[in-house]
Amino acid sequence: MIQTNKLTKIFRTEDVETYALNEVSMEVKRGEFVAIMGPSGCGKSTLLNIIGLLDNPSGGEYYFDGTEVGSYKERQRTMMRKGNIGFVFQSFNLIDELTVYENVELPLIYLKKKASERKEMVTAVLERMKIGHRAKHFPQQLSGGQQQRVAIGRAVVANPKLILADEPTGNLDSKNGLEVMNLLTELNREGTTIIMVTHSMHDAGFAHRVINLFDGEILTENVNEKMADIL
Ligand code: ADP
Ligand code: MG
Repeated sequence: MIQTNKLTKIFRTEDVETYALNEVSMEVKRGEFVAIMGPSGCGKSTLLNIIGLLDNPSGGEYYFDGTEVGSYKERQRTMMRKGNIGFVFQSFNLIDELTVYENVELPLIYLKKKASERKEMVTAVLERMKIGHRAKHFPQQLSGGQQQRVAIGRAVVANPKLILADEPTGNLDSKNGLEVMNLLTELNREGTTIIMVTHSMHDAGFAHRVINLFDGEILTENVNEKMADIL
């Protein structure tokens, strides 16, 4: 599903050049749950953003479902992203001016789904995320755990093939963190491919495989024997 070949990303600011990624070659198969770990600043978010078509690499190749998309223009990336990829972030990134319901509905509006269909899909997802009773609330009126469940609802409402989660439990206590991990695991068992950045060994234990980044390069890759049986 995902293949990168010597992916490089250089950020240039005035006279400073940062190699955020340096020849990263990796592969993620359909149905996998992969964790990306590594110290702060090692390139995890940069890698996730390129995989999620939010950003372009400076060099190397990136194949999504067999298509080389690394040099796609903004418009092409947006097209490809729509309905294919769902994002979950550490800081939830909900839109404060929209209700819970409207936040989750947003991807379906972009996909030009009919109103009746939207209503059915949003209602089902809100129930699944156990947040249906807060549909008319605004994000700021919810706890962190509830906000992240809304964000996951928004990420999955269009049934994406791939979910990218950047430290999804980073702002949550352990109880809410576990709930998020259980939701991601459930979605993965239903066939959604997941790539998750995490600092938590505990959360990485839910993945089939862990990729360790260091200074923009893949340092090691470990198969999680306990979880790999499930594949
Ligand atoms: P991580 O997510 O592992 O903490 P990032 O991928 O965010 O790391 O960043 C990797 C490196 O690239 C860091 O040195 C960071 O400062 C740099 N970087 C990230 N985004 C930008 C940007 N937009 N402009 C300049 N430098 C950036
Ligand atoms: Mg990061």
